[in-house]
Amino acid sequence: MIDAIEQLFDRQIRAWPRLAKGIQGLAHARSRPVRIDWFDVFIRHIPHRVASTTAAVDQESIARRPCFLCTANLDPEEEGIEFGSGFTLYCNPFPIVERHLTIVYKEHGMQQIAQRFGNMLDIAASLPGYFVVYNGPECGASAPDHLHFQAGSRKLFPIQNDLQKIDGIVVPNYARNVFVFRGRDRSALVERMERVIALLANATGKRPEPLINIALFFESGKWVVCLFPRAKHRPDVFHSGELTVSPASIDLCGIFVVPFEKDFERITGDNVASIFREVTLRDDVFQDVAARLEAEPW
Ligand SMILES: [Zn+2]
Repeated sequence: MIDAIEQLFDRQIRAWPRLAKGIQGLAHARSRPVRIDWFDVFIRHIPHRVASTTAAVDQESIARRPCFLCTANLDPEEEGIEFGSGFTLYCNPFPIVERHLTIVYKEHGMQQIAQRFGNMLDIAASLPGYFVVYNGPECGASAPDHLHFQAGSRKLFPIQNDLQKIDGIVVPNYARNVFVFRGRDRSALVERMERVIALLANATGKRPEPLINIALFFESGKWVVCLFPRAKHRPDVFHSGELTVSPASIDLCGIFVVPFEKDFERITGDNVASIFREVTLRDDVFQDVAARLEAEPW
């Protein structure tokens, strides 16, 4: 699969101008680490992400635009690789990381993780060296009306390094609240995720799917799953115009995207930490769910 992806990129960079432009944009992207507590977050300035960062994702706007993930609306040069289970993998023309992929379900239909978490694990298992992410329909998916995942190279993937120091299902003093599950047993992980999602739906009253982002990867025969329960989609600084940022899975994994240079120059670790705190689930609710999970046999 990895060889086929390398060949797809080679072909598509030559054939598809929108992708070539995106790859060039990424090559010029500047990154700088900011230290927060015991970990780093990499601020990455990517001008071509402005449309995603500011995308209108309300139902009315979504209903009015043609779906950019439906086969009929793809650029004519765009080519995919069929993945199995009804998914096709495409090069993402607005990359945040190297080898950024969009993994799209064959049919147009609501972005939701129910019954699909196993597919996500399978995708990760076929992509060594990659991460796979899911953005909930109200948590950064710019196509909330069409089921899709994203994937990308873990060449820079800060959360992976951070987690090497952690054993439990929560990460202390991490600014953002995240559940971490590790395992070799696919069906046990699927069951565990369904349980967490049900607990979060109960705790937040948000059904059928609570606000979540998921990032996972597969290494040495084991999956590592990070589930970020969210409090809200966009931080107050976005609405006030102070900072044009709208964190989704990749940002929460430690690559924090800023489309505007003025924001790149001035954003601080404190800004990032307070945005993470604001958009992930409140501590007391998070700790309640964590305590329930820890008390259950697994
Ligand atoms: Zn669609």
